[in-house]
Formats: sequence, structure tokens, C-alpha cells
Amino acid sequence: MDHVTALECTLCGETYDPERVVYTCPNHEGVRGILEVTYDYDVVRERFDADLDGAIPDQWKYRAFLPVADDVDPVSLGEGGTDLLEAPRLGAELSVDLRIKDDGRNPTGVLKDRATSVAVTKAKAAGREVVTCASTGNAAASLGGYAARAGLDCRIFVPEDAPEGKLAQPLVYGADVLGVAGSYDEAYDLSLDATEEFGWYNRNAAINPFQVEGKRTVGHELAEQTRGDCPDWLVFSMGDGCTIAGGWKGFREFAELDLVAETPKMLGVQAEGASAIHDAFRETDDADEVADTVADSIAVGRPRNTVKACRALEDSGGDSVLVTDEEILAAEATLGRTEGLYAEPAGAAPIAGLRKARRKGIVEAGESVVAVLTGNGLKDAASAMRAAGEIERIDADLDDVIARYGA
Ligand SMILES: *Cc1c(COP(=O)(O)O)cnc(C)c1O
Ligand SMILES: [Zn+2]
Repeated sequence: MDHVTALECTLCGETYDPERVVYTCPNHEGVRGILEVTYDYDVVRERFDADLDGAIPDQWKYRAFLPVADDVDPVSLGEGGTDLLEAPRLGAELSVDLRIKDDGRNPTGVLKDRATSVAVTKAKAAGREVVTCASTGNAAASLGGYAARAGLDCRIFVPEDAPEGKLAQPLVYGADVLGVAGSYDEAYDLSLDATEEFGWYNRNAAINPFQVEGKRTVGHELAEQTRGDCPDWLVFSMGDGCTIAGGWKGFREFAELDLVAETPKMLGVQAEGASAIHDAFRETDDADEVADTVADSIAVGRPRNTVKACRALEDSGGDSVLVTDEEILAAEATLGRTEGLYAEPAGAAPIAGLRKARRKGIVEAGESVVAVLTGNGLKDAASAMRAAGEIERIDADLDDVIARYGA
């Protein structure tokens, strides 16, 4: 890994050897000292010789940027390379030039597969046999799938109220799924204690400095897919905050290496019931650490990557907005109805946020926007029914159809 120079603390700047297993900087209480992977971009640039022609078979096209040694075989299910689709009908509704990157098309139905692929690749290469994480549902399914792919044991901590569809998936992948009687934040703390006790490999998005590096590939892909036509805004939902941070880091790297000329402003979207990153960015104080939103994937009371996420918003000249559950569910239905795209609530939240940002004048009419749909609607049918309504029941009789639609 001669292209990886260090793990650098986002709080105090202390650096650590990337070959040693360190999760967070010990200079700070708990897991606050989040580490950032730093690179020698001369080496990266020398190794990255792919054509930027928009043909992206999977995220390993950007292998030169990933913190994985040369001689390691990736554990892959074909993650990344997702479509960037024009969204003219929804765009017209919002008076913007809109494109949507559908990352719900990843192997387990979620953008997190990009990160999990990197984490499990590293766990396997290091000879680790057990991987673990805490999850609101999607990271559990994702880790379950990649652990099965790699032949590793998988032990997952979820809050017991996670949507059932999301828990069925890791069970099918053969993972141990431990439903913790408590919140995501409590499941998270328990997974850290177990990691320490047993020495398992922890994929937790916020604290494993390597796995989040996989999320940069959504930024690399977007930079390539919008080359010569950079959007004014790039919209992500925010839970722990590492997805938006990774997307920004990837895009920015392409600009710094002169692979693209411009970068977009980042718009971060949170639910009103889980607003910690928005509050930190705006420097408003909301001491409420209890997360409450229909968008379970971003229901995070104490985000671990607030620093990185706020940096992405600031460095890009971006902004953040909050949306209500009603607005999120309405956006889910609108996405489906106008563009044929099926998102879970956290995946639809960027569209709700874009509508809010238009109303507030943050995003202006006629600007160009790319929204990232982070998770597939098939994962959470119950929320989808809340968003779109119930089916109509009729008798097996043509007269009932005629009564409904006329003769
Ligand atoms: C995890 C997740 C997010 C948020 O990502 P963070 O890195 O926690 O901010 C958004 N949408 C979906 C579908 C997710 O699974
Ligand atoms: Zn530190």
C-alpha cells in the first residue's frame, strides 16, 4: 500500500501507521477521534490509467484510489458502476435540471456495498475470520452478503425495531443477527465492546477508517459521469455522515488530479427527528440525541462523522436542510410516480431535501442537480405502503372494473 501515507486524526492531526490496526485516535474520549486515510497522489495518479469514457463495470475501476494492497483479490459482488439517469419529469416539477444516480442498484440494494467490499477485502486479506458491525439494517445486510461471499463469519448488532425486510436479508446470507433491545446508538456501543472483547474485525462505518474510503467511488463515478457537465449541486442524505463525506472526497480528488475541471456544491439532507449534523453545520444547539424518523437508515442520534460531513458541506460551498417524515414519504411516492425509481425513505430524502432547498432559495430555478438515491425501496415495503397508499380491493368480476373505469 505505498500509495497510502497515513491515518490522520480529524481532531488533533496525529498520524498513525496505516498497516497497524487502529480504529480511532486514542487521544480523545471514546471513539471521537475519527481517522482519515491520506494518500500519496503522485503514486495514485501514476497508477490510475483508466479511460474516463463513462464505461464503469464496477467500482474497482478506481482501484488505484482504494486503500488495498496491489496483490490482494477484491471481495466483490459487482458493486458500483450504477446508472446516472436523466429525471426530466421530476426535474420539471422542481424547476431544476435533474439527474439521479441510483445506488439502490448495488448488489445488496444500497450504496454501502461500496464500503463493505473494501472492508471485507481488507478483513480477508488480513486473515480475519469474524466480521461485525452495528447497523440500522442496511450495513447489516451488506456486511452479511460480502461476508458470505468471502467465506467469513458475520455477527451483527441491530436495534430490534429495524424494518423486518432489512433483517431477513442478512439472515438469508447466514449472518448471526442480534436484535438489541435499544436504539441504534446502543447497538453501536455494544458492537464496539464486543469488538474489543473478541478481537473481531469491525466494519462500523464511522470508525473503520478504511471502509469509508470505498464510499469515495460514488464521487469518482459521478465526476466521470458528469465530466464536462458538472452539476451545480450534489445531494445526499446524512446519517452518520460518511456517505456525503466520501462522495465529496472522491469528487474533489478527481478535481485535484485535474481529471475534471469543477466540483459541485454539496447539499446534505437530514430528517427533522435526527438533525445532529445539520445542527452542527448551522451551529444551532439541539441537545436531543434521540433519533426519531421513518427513514431508519439516517435515524442516527449521535453521528460519528459530523466533522467529516461538515467539512464536505463547508469546503464545497454547500448547505444543509431538514425534512419531515411526511415530506420524505411524499418524495418516495413522487420518485416512483414521475421517474420509475423505487427508493427506501432515506434514499428518497434527497428529493425531499431538494424540494425544501428550492423553496428556501438555496437551490435556484434552472440550476443543475444530481441527487443520489442511496437505497432500494424493496427493503422497506411497510414505509412504501405508507408513502403510496393501499391497494384497491375488487371482486373477480368485470363489472367491478367497469364501475372503476367506466365502460
Ligand atoms: C447508511 C445510509 C445512508 C446514510 O449514510 P451515512 O454514511 O450514515 O451518512 C443513507 N441512505 C441509505 C439508504 C443508507 O443505508
Ligand atoms: Zn486525535
